[in-house]
Amino acid sequence: MAERFETLVLHGTCKVKGNIKSKAAPIYQTSAFTFGDLDELEGFYHGEGNYLYSRVGNPNTDELGAAVAALEGAPAGVAASSGLSAILAGILAVAKNGDHIVAAEDVYGGSYHMLKAELSGLGIETTFVSFKDLKSIEGAITEKTKLLYTESITNPFLRVENVEEVVKIAKKHGIYTLVDNTFATPYHCRLFLEGVDLVAHSATKYIGGHSDVTAGVIVGGAELIDKARARIVNLGLNLSPFEAWLTCRGLKTLALRMKAQSENAKELAESLRDNRNVRKVYYPFERGEKGYGAVVTVELGQEVDIHRFFRSLGWVKIVPTLAGVVTSVSHPLKTSHRALPPEAQEELGITMSVVRISVGIENSGDIIGQFDKAIEMALI
Ligand SMILES: *Cc1c(COP(=O)(O)O)cnc(C)c1O
Repeated sequence: MAERFETLVLHGTCKVKGNIKSKAAPIYQTSAFTFGDLDELEGFYHGEGNYLYSRVGNPNTDELGAAVAALEGAPAGVAASSGLSAILAGILAVAKNGDHIVAAEDVYGGSYHMLKAELSGLGIETTFVSFKDLKSIEGAITEKTKLLYTESITNPFLRVENVEEVVKIAKKHGIYTLVDNTFATPYHCRLFLEGVDLVAHSATKYIGGHSDVTAGVIVGGAELIDKARARIVNLGLNLSPFEAWLTCRGLKTLALRMKAQSENAKELAESLRDNRNVRKVYYPFERGEKGYGAVVTVELGQEVDIHRFFRSLGWVKIVPTLAGVVTSVSHPLKTSHRALPPEAQEELGITMSVVRISVGIENSGDIIGQFDKAIEMALI
């Protein structure tokens, strides 16, 4: 019998290795591993399972990669030092100098910059198009295209990607797909099972869940993950053992956290939709009865003073990131989307009045109360 997600997240992942049967996994806080003799050392190079050097491999980082792979339904996974390094390893597993990528225009700012400012300098060009329009994806594919790159739920307007269609287009053209599943997590969608070749996570967000680590994971088929792992080893994109251990610790409660946070987010989104001082609420209401992700974005009305709103939030903190167990807000115009040219900001609808809310696990009535009060206090 295949275990369901809530069970799998505890018993199918983060398995303790070694002979000492501690209930919690030990931390292999070591830069290297020792060998009894030259035969044992030689054995390492013949794949006999020993570890050599932590940049090359470490039980804690291996555990995290395998755990997220299990949750996504993928055969293999590898951890990296951040979400961006996981994405980079995934891209470099399929693309090299001279190759081309077609990416969604609304991907995370950091990923956009990596593709635009860094990878183009290494000879990997990216064309950004609207993935809402499937024809524009096909129109951008050339004979050099190796990869379609997008996100399962986008930031800050929570557009849910049509993954099935993106996969279909990729298969038709014989190219790969890499999808960033950070916002949805495998609790809401298991992308490898939907045919995506490589699934990336900023484990800094919901996988870790407690705002205390920067980490990333990329999962997929064994062959592609072997290539991604080689990039991580050779480019030094590895995660530290302690960060991997903390992330695995956080991961155990992923199902509980995502359930509570998504339910709270949906309730908050519904409440704000009914608030006449809120101009627009962005949330994937049509998905999942109990919510679909834990980020809600709102555009406040002109009658709400944005500075006073941010000062009136009580225990809701202003934080330029998302996904912790504590409710927080960010201001996309002045943080994540700051670097975009004004025309692009306007075209995307990122105005001074747009607020992104990362909903936590507090009592939902209390969360709703804080936002109602802040809006009330900020009325001009
Ligand atoms: C935060 C984030 C990243 C980058 O992750 P880091 O861990 O900060 O490198 C990539 N994609 C999405 C969707 C994110 O939210």
